[in-house]
Amino acid sequence: MSKLVLNPGKERSLLRRHPWVFAGSVARLEGRARPGDTVEVVADDGRFLGRAAWSPESQIRARMWSFAADITIDHAFFKRRVAESVARRATHPLLADESGVRLIHGESDGLPGIIADRFGDVVVMQLTSAGAEKWREAIIAGLVQATGCTAVYERSDSEVRGLEGLGPKTGCVHGELPEAVLTIVENGVRMEVDVISGHKTGFYLDQRDNRRLTGVLAAGRSVLNCFCYTGGFSLQALAGDATSVLSIDSSAPALDAGRRNLAMNPQLDAGRAEWLQADVFEALRALKSEGRRFDLIVLDPPKFAPSAAHADRASRAYKDINLFGFRLLNPGGILMTYSCSGGIGLELFQKILAGAASDAGVDARILHRLAAAADHPVGLAVPEGEYLKGLALQVG
Ligand code: SAH
Repeated sequence: MSKLVLNPGKERSLLRRHPWVFAGSVARLEGRARPGDTVEVVADDGRFLGRAAWSPESQIRARMWSFAADITIDHAFFKRRVAESVARRATHPLLADESGVRLIHGESDGLPGIIADRFGDVVVMQLTSAGAEKWREAIIAGLVQATGCTAVYERSDSEVRGLEGLGPKTGCVHGELPEAVLTIVENGVRMEVDVISGHKTGFYLDQRDNRRLTGVLAAGRSVLNCFCYTGGFSLQALAGDATSVLSIDSSAPALDAGRRNLAMNPQLDAGRAEWLQADVFEALRALKSEGRRFDLIVLDPPKFAPSAAHADRASRAYKDINLFGFRLLNPGGILMTYSCSGGIGLELFQKILAGAASDAGVDARILHRLAAAADHPVGLAVPEGEYLKGLALQVG
């Protein structure tokens, strides 16, 4: 096996079990390795550090599969890791009965570059690194064996694959989709999941717990849900007896799905729902000038800052929508606001919100600190895994 020798001192993060080797840490590769091949990672003094997947095209030159000397990286390794990951969800009391659940969450499950979500009997898989790509057959076999699913659908069309020199790949890699559009039940609400053309793997499972909280807090309140996608928060708010729910998104297909989702849940009062196709930045200003007010506002925008390099521009965008969020709240109103940007940490997000509240002239207090649900665990050694952060803030 080829040896990846690190520069002096660059073993430190690996000794803390952080799984990435950056380009600047690499002294040399001894021997030959193709993209995705397993390499032995050693310190400057030859000390064994672990085994990793070689990604020559990426700034992350290697991703660790294992830190143990006695673990072989082979077909059986992936089947075992996938099975363990699936079992962790199956044995978690809050996840075991979910029809939509993330089964594999990349680095945090010891499987860098690998995402898998289960929607009923279908697993949607996304591979984003050269190492994951190399072991695709083992990963698919592991998913089929561990879940007994009828189909595995691949959605490896994330842009980050380009950084690894990989093109997009989509389609069924095992079995056949039972329907073009699947249905899951989330917190008692039926939601369609378009695994073929929906965002990411089709549905944002990470917000499950936060949608439930929205339902609880929405009782008797008028709700504004910005960046609503297929209406996840909107329908939970209606289920929680919100008096009205205005949902805004720029995507017509997403809004259509939202309307279909509402129709699929006849227990909800469709008369309380309004859908608006608009740019949220403009819509918030328009609502303000119309004098509209709400008792609960959800702001769940797309990733404004994919990395720290985008933090400045992203900070201004977060400040802008949250400033208007605060301005549109009735006294006693609640703002449930999120950032899924890796480049914006919780501390910075909180500072941005404090600035927005101050500019809006409101006092706000944190009721709840929010994060992704338990099927999106964060490896303690991998703080980058903590991408989703949210706060429920009450004003007045
Ligand atoms: N809250 C959603 C997920 C949001 S994903 C859920 O619970 O499922 C982000 C959404 O923002 C996408 O649906 C995208 O279409 C929308 N979007 C992105 N930029 C926008 C903009 N400037 N104005 C309105 N919607 C936007």
